[in-house]
Amino acid sequence: MFDVLVIGGGNAALCAALMAREAGASVLLLESAPREWRGGNSQHTRNLRCMHDAPQDVLIDAYPEEEYWQDLLKVTGGLTDEKLARTAIRASSTCRSWMRKHGVRFQPPLSGALHVARTNAFFMGGGKALVNAYYRSAESSGVQIRYDATVDSIELDGDRFVAARLGNERIEARTCVLAAGGFESNREWLREAWGQVNGEWVADNFLIRGTRFNMGVLLKYMIDAGADVIGDPSQSHCVAIDAGAALRWRHLHPRRLRFTGGCAQSERRAVLR
Ligand SMILES: Cc1cc2nc3c(=O)[nH]c(=O)nc-3n(C[C@H](O)[C@H](O)[C@H](O)COP(=O)(O)OP(=O)(O)OC[C@H]3O[C@@H](n4cnc5c(N)ncnc54)[C@H](O)[C@@H]3O)c2cc1C
Repeated sequence: MFDVLVIGGGNAALCAALMAREAGASVLLLESAPREWRGGNSQHTRNLRCMHDAPQDVLIDAYPEEEYWQDLLKVTGGLTDEKLARTAIRASSTCRSWMRKHGVRFQPPLSGALHVARTNAFFMGGGKALVNAYYRSAESSGVQIRYDATVDSIELDGDRFVAARLGNERIEARTCVLAAGGFESNREWLREAWGQVNGEWVADNFLIRGTRFNMGVLLKYMIDAGADVIGDPSQSHCVAIDAGAALRWRHLHPRRLRFTGGCAQSERRAVLR
């Protein structure tokens, strides 16, 4: 039996698997996607917002904890768990050395691009390089990895994890880390979260740019099983794009978007990241 079963194959899952392995645990990671599509939305991410009190390697000036926290309050409209947020903010100032140890490389933003040289450390090679580095490190440190391994449900004994179920298969472990992303690719759930405006489902106009494997199956399962819920399901990072853009134009890059200021609600498209 494995000490730690990690469900998911993106940034959160890989970090959990690597840290558990570093602590001496035997680890099995289950990724829903086939190998060539591994890495969830993390394969699309480009940078890490980092707190720092003075210039640090690829970051200029300072981005203090309080400013970061205030920025977070602005984008979430105040719906932010302060304890969790401050934990993440503080860790963002020191985590890059651990990431480098596992093969992740950073670079400053390209000049003339977004004005984020102060706040964001960019991954050299983007999110794909980030997850590839973590997978390489996981493989070489002995983390067992299975692709095409979609977990359908979790067997619990009260609050205690017992096993994960994949079809007829049952995998037991001493501990389980659920890091299987959100419900970004589940159009029905997005509809439910965003509701209707003028008789139109808002989510029907979303162009989903990320992985197709984040259906929120385990999230739903755990909510139904009584897990605590935090956050607001309608909060997300969206970018307005040209109303004429094809709805299924995947993997487009934000800098190639044309913005349409002042278009009518029904003409808007948003990209969900
Ligand atoms: C286009 C785009 C650009 C982005 N840019 C940035 C950025 O620049 N900076 C930033 O901070 N954030 C960015 N984000 C957001 C960031 O990528 C995510 O917040 C982050 O990757 C989430 O990591 P995660 O590990 O929680 O989920 P994910 O990386 O999505 O991983 C979820 C994993 O779970 C697997 N999975 C799902 N269901 C199951 C199941 N039932 N069984 C087994 N496995 C399952 C999936 O296959 C996937 O491997 C961006 C997102 C997108 C889509």
